[in-house]
Amino acid sequence: MPLVVHKYGGSSVADAEKIQGVARRIADVSQKGTGVVAVVSAMGDSTDELIELAHSVSQKPHPREMDLLLSTGEVVSCTLLTMALADLGLEAVSLTGSQAGIHTDTSHGRALIHSVDTARMLKELKEGRVVVVAGFQGINEDNDITTLGRGGSDTTAVALAVALGADRCEIYTDVDGIYTADPRIVPEARKLTEIDYDEMLELANYGAKMHPRSIELGAFYNVPIYVASSFNQTPGTLIHNIPNNANANEVQMENRIKATGIACTTNVAKITVRSVPDQPGVAAALFEPLAQSGISVDTIVQNTSEDRTTDISFTVSGTDLPAAIAKVEELSKELGAGDLISEGGLAAVSVVGSGMQHIPGYASRMFRVLADGNVNIDMITTSEIRISCIIREEQAQEAIRLLHRGFQLDEPDPVD
Ligand code: ASP
Ligand code: MG
Repeated sequence: MPLVVHKYGGSSVADAEKIQGVARRIADVSQKGTGVVAVVSAMGDSTDELIELAHSVSQKPHPREMDLLLSTGEVVSCTLLTMALADLGLEAVSLTGSQAGIHTDTSHGRALIHSVDTARMLKELKEGRVVVVAGFQGINEDNDITTLGRGGSDTTAVALAVALGADRCEIYTDVDGIYTADPRIVPEARKLTEIDYDEMLELANYGAKMHPRSIELGAFYNVPIYVASSFNQTPGTLIHNIPNNANANEVQMENRIKATGIACTTNVAKITVRSVPDQPGVAAALFEPLAQSGISVDTIVQNTSEDRTTDISFTVSGTDLPAAIAKVEELSKELGAGDLISEGGLAAVSVVGSGMQHIPGYASRMFRVLADGNVNIDMITTSEIRISCIIREEQAQEAIRLLHRGFQLDEPDPVD
């Protein structure tokens, strides 16, 4: 029997009617003889509400309790969806992450999946049931409930597709695919029919609303991920392995500089530590404790050394800024470094495209477009297929529109 894993995001199961709509979609697939495992996120903004609730009773909610609390959001949606499926005459069963056999490490709030014991899911599928799994959670070796990090249900879904050997993982959401830029900001943005894992991973890491770990898993196990709307039947975007250089050849033939998409992360903050002693081990002494406190650092720039000291600047999420400042203040004292400067209200705009591996001129094009738009660049980072610039957040939307036009993303693809 063919098997597919579906995932429905929070906005797709936000109320009773939407849950019934999702149930009808699953019923259509299941009644045609395909086995369905459906992973769901918590209803609407209920995870945010649970977080707020926790902070209203405790200044520093215990991570173990927080995970058990947050896991309940997905338990609500998965049981309700199962009831709606039963009303349509389908055999269905809801499973928490732990019941579905999802084993994780012990890091609460950002647990990694170690393994999936598929026995229970396979038994239910064999008996003809639709299996509805609570996303974003698992169980650790101490039998405690863990969560995978915000947006983690995508990763649950791809992990289950991998473990069950499903033909593909289908992610249903409130947008109907992956676009060249956020269509709410750039009305001319085009939907991509397909995209490579590598490019999608960059877009997800730099602003597209997908859990990057789900893309990494899909790429590693070569499981295609289809992203489409949960509200209509419009064809979506397939994330899969596109043979190497296909894009680059197209760009060369067209003799133009073309990217795949523009991504943007907002709420970025920057910290600069002045006069850090320029000696081995200093960067490790600064960044290891930050990582251990769960603060993720993105762009890092170290300046040339003068007088055997150097300035180190890096970005963190604006949400992590207060915690990062507290930690860095402590560390810079220990290291004998100088002052600390911090700045919030920044954004990272990124141009992503595998064509840039083979063709020069992408970076200069990006800087020219931003310069012509009077957008000041604060920091720059690149990967083989991405260039990111840190800019002021209030200029981000305009920068995205300019870059979309500057990289000819509004023009239809010759192969579409
Ligand atoms: N409900 C969780 C969140 O809002 C997980 C998810 O939606 O995937 O982050
Ligand atoms: Mg959510």
